[in-house]
Amino acid sequence: MDNQLDYAPGGYFSISEAGFVQSVNRTFLDMLSIANAEDLIGKHIETVMSPTNKMFFHTYFYPHIQLYERVDEMYFSFRSTDKQSVPVLINGIRQKRGGEMLIDCVALLMRKRLEYEKDTLRSKQQLEELYQATSALNSRLESLHEEYERKQQALLEINRNLETLASTDPLTGLHNRRFFQDCLRGELLAAKDHKAPLSLLIIDIDHFKNINDTYGHPVGDFVLIELARLLRKTAGSRSICARFGGEEFVVLLPTLHSAEALKVAEQIRSAIEQTPLGLHQVTVSIGAETSLSDSTEETLIERADLALYHAKSSGRNRVVHAEQLAHS
Ligand code: GH3
Ligand code: MG
Ligand code: MG
Repeated sequence: MDNQLDYAPGGYFSISEAGFVQSVNRTFLDMLSIANAEDLIGKHIETVMSPTNKMFFHTYFYPHIQLYERVDEMYFSFRSTDKQSVPVLINGIRQKRGGEMLIDCVALLMRKRLEYEKDTLRSKQQLEELYQATSALNSRLESLHEEYERKQQALLEINRNLETLASTDPLTGLHNRRFFQDCLRGELLAAKDHKAPLSLLIIDIDHFKNINDTYGHPVGDFVLIELARLLRKTAGSRSICARFGGEEFVVLLPTLHSAEALKVAEQIRSAIEQTPLGLHQVTVSIGAETSLSDSTEETLIERADLALYHAKSSGRNRVVHAEQLAHS
């Protein structure tokens, strides 16, 4: 065997059809830690195989090369003289040489490649573990986020309820005076911005003290509750109704001129006059005012109150607009 083949960077061996080694290069001998070629030549190739590998060789290598004349890239393991497993990748050809059928094989050592594969597999496993840990963390984060959202919603709901409580009259369920004052401020600014009118009604129950005095305070409360309900129903959806205090109510009518405000006030007055509140019938006096360019929150309330005073003093159960006072 020439030197080049003897020391080629891959093992080479040639066997007879019966499996006896005919020739072998130095590289192959080194792979199996065999000192001299004579130690292998003439022996059966299966002498350098473990029993399991022999079985594999019989089951796959022989039938395949008989059938197809060649074997490509077959993973295999030899056994070295010091009983170590020597993993290789074998290519083999069955061909006639010198009148005899021979099987020529090259065997490339696979140790490094297997190490790489193991490394790759380990890395893959680690990546998978990392991925699983990350996705577990992610779903934990997601559920924390959901919980946070839920709590945030609950807090918003509590705040909304608190706000409603803080702006609601507990007896009648109408807005309270504080809320009304805030609304008045906002609506007056909006009215001035849009050069639109804003009307205000102050409604006071006539001789309400009599009801308390005659039937007692709880009946008085009942009448207030029922009157608030009726007011809400009659004042129209764009109005803002509130309890101003005691037996006085206010209605804000954005964008309504005095004539329209008077109409709404008259509807309210007549509905209350005609509707029994439980067993009781009451009337109300109403003072109205509509904003002018120089109106303030204070002048609006003052002048509506003045008009109310006139409604009372001119006989009650009636509506008076502050504009009418200026005219009279
Ligand atoms: P006027 O026609 O002049 O308005 O007569 P009035 O009796 O309605 O007016 P007055 O201001 O003399 O009396 C108001 C009464 O309203 C006195 C007060 O006891 C009663 N009142 C105020 N707030 C409440 C309340 O929350 N519940 C009850 N039951 N009565 C109330
Ligand atoms: Mg009063
Ligand atoms: Mg009154």
